[in-house]
Amino acid sequence: MKIHEYQAAALFSAYGVRVPEGGPASTPAEAEAVARTLQSGPFVVKAQVHSGGRGKAGGVKFANTPEEAAQKAGEILGMTLVTKQTGPQGRVVQKVLVSRAVNIAREYYLSLTVDGTRERVVLIASPAGGMEIEETAKTSPEKIFTQEIDPYLGMTGYQAREMGKKLGLSAAEVKQFIPLCKNLYRLFTEKDCSLVEINPLAVDGAGDLIAADAKVNFDDNALFRHADVAAMRDPNEEDAREAEAAKYDLNYIGLDGDIGCMVNGAGLAMATMDIIQSFGGSPANFLDVGGSATAEKVAGAFSILLADSKVRCIFINIFGGIMRCDVIAEGVVEAARKLAVKVPLVVRLEGTNAEAGKAILAGSGLNIVAAADMADGAEKACRLVKGASA
Ligand code: ADP
Ligand code: MG
Repeated sequence: MKIHEYQAAALFSAYGVRVPEGGPASTPAEAEAVARTLQSGPFVVKAQVHSGGRGKAGGVKFANTPEEAAQKAGEILGMTLVTKQTGPQGRVVQKVLVSRAVNIAREYYLSLTVDGTRERVVLIASPAGGMEIEETAKTSPEKIFTQEIDPYLGMTGYQAREMGKKLGLSAAEVKQFIPLCKNLYRLFTEKDCSLVEINPLAVDGAGDLIAADAKVNFDDNALFRHADVAAMRDPNEEDAREAEAAKYDLNYIGLDGDIGCMVNGAGLAMATMDIIQSFGGSPANFLDVGGSATAEKVAGAFSILLADSKVRCIFINIFGGIMRCDVIAEGVVEAARKLAVKVPLVVRLEGTNAEAGKAILAGSGLNIVAAADMADGAEKACRLVKGASA
């Protein structure tokens, strides 16, 4: 799960990581009021969307007075921000963060994330901060330093000190850098984060280290033990299909294609996406309905596929082991009764109660194309979609 910069900045503050003072605003008047609480300018007004690259896209503007902060907020609020990370459709800005502008002397990159290969949390830092770290990784990888953190020892002072030296920080700056790294690591582990990122970590004119940007992502599988984190969820920022799927506790990821997939088991779901691609098609989603889905859950899943206007064909690929094919069929028919099904369904049912499942679907009056096996189903789904667009 992602949160906004203003929320991440509040978490940083709670963990002793210095951020510019400020607060969120949803209207120009609110932005002006926030600026007034900061007393003197200059201020910065920043679009709050779950995406980086806001600066380059025009989502970060400076202001000298509270009135000007209101004006800049008026320009940013409501705009559709298209950044490298939002995709071409962009994101509509509904909130801004008004904060004190830092007098930035230097900008660094600093983050903590999980390196799956090393099975460790890693500290990543670079003196090439502010700009896109992905570009630096490509063009000058020698400017990016990483340090594995031992889960037993945690972030040690010497590791942070070494990193500070590699960044070229002065002795006085390293003194601030060590507790900064330790505090970030505490936040990372206590809140079950998947990413904590500061880009840029600013050194101001007085030699103080300040997080001028704040990004925190959380491990969804650990949200159940962090009610405070879950409460920061912003449904406006989420894929509507994924938000709906979360209600049914479904393992669903929205994609850009036009073949809706309903599959049981994550492995089979991935194989289904692969085989659709290999026949020249494009999946609209990843969906694992799980091993023990009820008819209601299946109906919920099916209605999400149907509500997706990009979906032009649905491929149901079920291998019934623990999951019974008749339960899947009942769920599909239940959802189909409530919602108009305008797209063809390609169905491959195999395993437990497959015949009963096929009989339920055959008797439902739905437009069903039977598939002999998985490859046959994928090929038929791809052909139906191509035929529809021809
Ligand atoms: P994004 O990463 O989405 O582009 P940032 O928060 O990093 O957004 O802002 C972009 C740039 O704007 C930063 O690299 C920094 O130079 C400048 N900036 C952001 N916040 C402040 C601030 N509080 N004071 C001064 N400059 C800032
Ligand atoms: Mg940034």
